[in-house]
Formats: sequence, C-alpha cells, structure tokens
Amino acid sequence: MPELPEVETVRSGLAAKILGAKIDEVKVFENRSIRQHEKGKKDFQSQLAGNKVVSANRRGKFMWLQLENQNRDDALVIHLGMSGQVLIHKTEELEKHARVVFDLTTKRNKKLTMRFVDQRMFGGMFLDSLTQTSEGDLLPIRVSHIARDLFDPFVDDEKIVADILKRKAGIKSLLLNQAIVSGVGNIYADEALWQTKLHYLTPGSRLKPKQVHQTLAALREIMQKAILAGGTSFDEQYVRVNGESGWFEVELNAYGQEGEPCARCGREIVREAWANRSSHRCPRCQPARNLGG
Ligand SMILES: [Zn+2]
Repeated sequence: MPELPEVETVRSGLAAKILGAKIDEVKVFENRSIRQHEKGKKDFQSQLAGNKVVSANRRGKFMWLQLENQNRDDALVIHLGMSGQVLIHKTEELEKHARVVFDLTTKRNKKLTMRFVDQRMFGGMFLDSLTQTSEGDLLPIRVSHIARDLFDPFVDDEKIVADILKRKAGIKSLLLNQAIVSGVGNIYADEALWQTKLHYLTPGSRLKPKQVHQTLAALREIMQKAILAGGTSFDEQYVRVNGESGWFEVELNAYGQEGEPCARCGREIVREAWANRSSHRCPRCQPARNLGG
C-alpha cells in the first residue's frame, strides 16, 4: 500500500513532467476508477479536456493536480489505493491495467500520455473544487478534513502531541488517524514505534510529551529516507512515474521482520494481529506493559 513517501515520489515525478501541460483528451476505460466522480464519465472527460495543469500537490496520501478550470472543479484528486500507479509515457502502447488515459501537450509542445494504471482498483480519481480551509490552506473539498502531514511547512507538532496525549486510544491507531496527522501508514508507524520503544497499544494518555515528539521525529526521519530512496514498498505493483521500480533501499527494523532478530537486542521480532491488519514489535524493547487505559 503506498504511503506518504510513495505518493510524494509520484507527485514530484508529475511536477517535473507535466506542469503547464494541456490536457487534450481523456479516455476512461474503467468507470470504477472514477466512481468517486459523482457527475459521471462525460462530465469528467469534458471538464478535463482543454485544461492546463497548474501544480501537483499532496497532503498525506492524497495527491491532486490543480487545473486552470475557473468557476468549475479545479482539482483532479488522485488516490492510489492499493496498487494504483501514475505513469508518463511517450509511447502509444497501453498497460494491461490502464484505466484512465490522458493525452497531454507539454509546455514545449511535446505529446505525452499520463496513465492511471490500477490492477486491484481500490484507487481512483475524481474532480473536486479547491476550498480555503480555516487554517488558510487551499485544498480539495473532500481532502479538507485531512490534517497536515509531517512534511507540511505549517504542521504544528505541539498540536499533534496535545491531541495524542488527551486520547485513550493506542498510539498506533492515533498515528494512523488522518484527522490528527496525515500520511502515516502501517510500515512507518511500526518502524517509528520500534525506534522509540513503544508498544503500539500504549494509550496516548499514558505517554509523556517527549515520547510523542520523539515518535514524530522518528517518523520524519524514516519517511524522509524513503522519499530520498524513491519510495518504499512491498507491493510490486508500485513503480515510479517513469516506470522504474520504486523498490526501496531503506532498511526496516520491525515491519515485515517477524522471526528476525531485533537489531537492538537480538530478540525475535513478532507480528501480531491488530485492527484487521498486523503490527510488528520487539517483545523485549516494546513490552506489553503500561497499556491500561
Ligand atoms: Zn529489541
């Protein structure tokens, strides 16, 4: 599942290639990939045709292209879901799972295609209107409830820490709560909690401010490494904008390491069922104590 670093890799790839490009034509081959565009396929295609891409933006795992669509929907929101990819090509030949194809003319008058390729179809795209939030950000309406992510220049760590300290839910579910802080998923939550030696079920209200600050710092550090490495993923469906594999080079200490010795103490990392998913921890470094509500 793509997390913030993967989405950021796609966003920066798009920003480098298609800013200022004009959308000539849009072909939707799979209606399910635009199911969140309630006005349907014809509206989607006609609003996009003739528009220019102004900027490529991201908040958490949401990404959108701002369009020059004055007085109408001016954001194309792209959600990668489990296996979504956005590829830019010069060639005509389409991938087997190409769901939506955009014919573009770049600022330098080159023809390109942008494809939304999605095998499992949990991802999708839709048009939305940009709105000014109470915090002064310009966001698509359907993204406006998502909290700032840890790479947002205006993110307020003190506010995130205060939010976490007053809640009884476990720290991992708080880190994954997109209304508190966005963009953190399973992989990076497990890694950060390993670094700060916290059990994933520790209630927010049982933590010290310093522990939460350290966990945020760990998240930033690990995700920054993954962004520099071009995105971390265990999903072979994930590739970068140019089709090159985004297979990560970031070393993981907890996620997917069950049965491996903890890099700190040597005890075997365990994988435990958690919220319909799983969590990884070192039983010695991240013991199940201090978990009472
Ligand atoms: Zn350990």
